[in-house]
Amino acid sequence: MQPETKVCQSCKKDFVIEPDDFGFYEKMKVPAPEICPQCRQQIRILFRNFKTLYRRPSSKSGEMMVSVYSPEAPFPVYSVSEWWSDDWNAMDYGISFDSQQPFFAQLLQIFNTVPHPTVMNSQTENCEYSNQINQSKNCYLIFGGLDDEDCDYGHIVWNSRDSIDNLYLFKSESCYECIDCLGSAKLFYSQECESCVDSIGLFDCRNCLNCIGCVGQVNKSYYIFNEPVTKEEYKEFFLKYPLSEKSSIDFILKEQDALRRKIPQRAFFGSHNNDVSGNHIYNAHNVHYSFDVKSGENSKFCFTVRKAIDSYDLSFTGEAEECYQALTMLDSNKVIGSQQIVDSHDIYYSENCFNCDNLFGCYGLRKKSYCILNKQYSKEEYEKIKNQIINQLKENKEWGNFLPKNLSSFAYNESIVNEYTPLSKEEALAQGFTWKDNIPYTTGQGTIEYDNLPKNPEEYNDQLIEEILTCDNCQKNYKLINREINFYKRNKLSLPTQCFNCRHQHRMDLRLPRKLWHRKCMCDKKNHFHGDKSCEVEFETSYAPDRPEIVYCEKCYQQEVY
Ligand SMILES: [Zn+2]
Ligand SMILES: [Zn+2]
Ligand SMILES: [Zn+2]
Repeated sequence: MQPETKVCQSCKKDFVIEPDDFGFYEKMKVPAPEICPQCRQQIRILFRNFKTLYRRPSSKSGEMMVSVYSPEAPFPVYSVSEWWSDDWNAMDYGISFDSQQPFFAQLLQIFNTVPHPTVMNSQTENCEYSNQINQSKNCYLIFGGLDDEDCDYGHIVWNSRDSIDNLYLFKSESCYECIDCLGSAKLFYSQECESCVDSIGLFDCRNCLNCIGCVGQVNKSYYIFNEPVTKEEYKEFFLKYPLSEKSSIDFILKEQDALRRKIPQRAFFGSHNNDVSGNHIYNAHNVHYSFDVKSGENSKFCFTVRKAIDSYDLSFTGEAEECYQALTMLDSNKVIGSQQIVDSHDIYYSENCFNCDNLFGCYGLRKKSYCILNKQYSKEEYEKIKNQIINQLKENKEWGNFLPKNLSSFAYNESIVNEYTPLSKEEALAQGFTWKDNIPYTTGQGTIEYDNLPKNPEEYNDQLIEEILTCDNCQKNYKLINREINFYKRNKLSLPTQCFNCRHQHRMDLRLPRKLWHRKCMCDKKNHFHGDKSCEVEFETSYAPDRPEIVYCEKCYQQEVY
């Protein structure tokens, strides 16, 4: 079979369907998609609001609670414990499928009547201000967490302890302002590092200890800006540049950035792979056009996934097998067009279902089989109506797509999509998305100027939680919590000058985009070992061609660094 170039029905750009893809679509019994991978991802993650939080009453008890749903949401919203209790039944909201009416209009009726959980947390303790967090304790404003303890302000933080202000942090402890770091401890202001300890401002380093502002270093200790120093010189550095002064951090990161422009960079971050493309891929075989994948096989278009097997188009997912167009699968298989499906299989166009199989268009079910629009059927009836619906969806060219965007509970700017694919209000509206103008925040309530806060970490005290600060970027107000104050004090760090959203956005801006460019290795003969020829290797990389970094293929990079 030949690759086929199609025009995306959404953005009108060309995209290619590869011969292998047809095999996948055939196996999943769906037609090849009419919209491009980016637009498919955009619609999927429109359905996830990680961190736009509201205060609103529970529709059951009236008790005030933190919620991802605004008070104007059309459906009832229950507290987490109310939602999980057995004193209500999602099946009570079931309706019969009417073949004369569009399926998705009927599904919208289900979505708009069945109670929703205020945030999606499970097995958590003292994590009320976090969302999409599992098996965790004492976490504040963590969005997308798993097995965390005493972690605050972060997005995609897994198996970590005592860490603050991080983005994509794994198996780490006492880290601060880290992005894409793994297996590290007491690592601050670092990016793309693995197994680094007691270090500051590192980029792409491995097994380093007591290093400052280094790039591309392996197995080093007492290095500053890629040069060896004595223990005494290392100590003196902190006397000259105490971390409690913002200017010290700025200096370290500026020097590190200069090194990054001078030293060749690897085109791709990841390891233990065979035949992959994308970025941040580990332990994978035949995984393409994917980003932030911890392990996988024969999968494509996967974004932030722990384990993908024979799956295409996954976002923010744990373990998924034979899934397509799915958002947040945990230990599930054979799922299409659904989100938040846990320990389940054979699920279509459903949301928030647990320990289920054979569902079509259901919301909020647990331990159910053979249900359509939250109504119970026999196996035979289920198959018959399921085929009717699939035929209708095929006729409308909807079969195999994710849920239509009008079924999302969130406006574009409430959803995480606006961080991964940012749009202005005008652009979002022009593309048929909705926009929310009155997202709550406070301004003008500040009780103290930043300059009047204690500068010496020894003087930080719990009184600081009473103060209301003003973000120096967006002027919105923010507060400090006990745990973070103690963290800054213990680690001799300055207090943050910006609110959580601005800090988070800054980290997002430092990550490479989830896009690939076809480029050639920039290693030329003057550098070393190709004899009198430049390296001819070509690759896909998330470094855009107009970026200042010198980007090498993995082989040349290894020669240079090791
Ligand atoms: Zn498109
Ligand atoms: Zn701000
Ligand atoms: Zn090369």
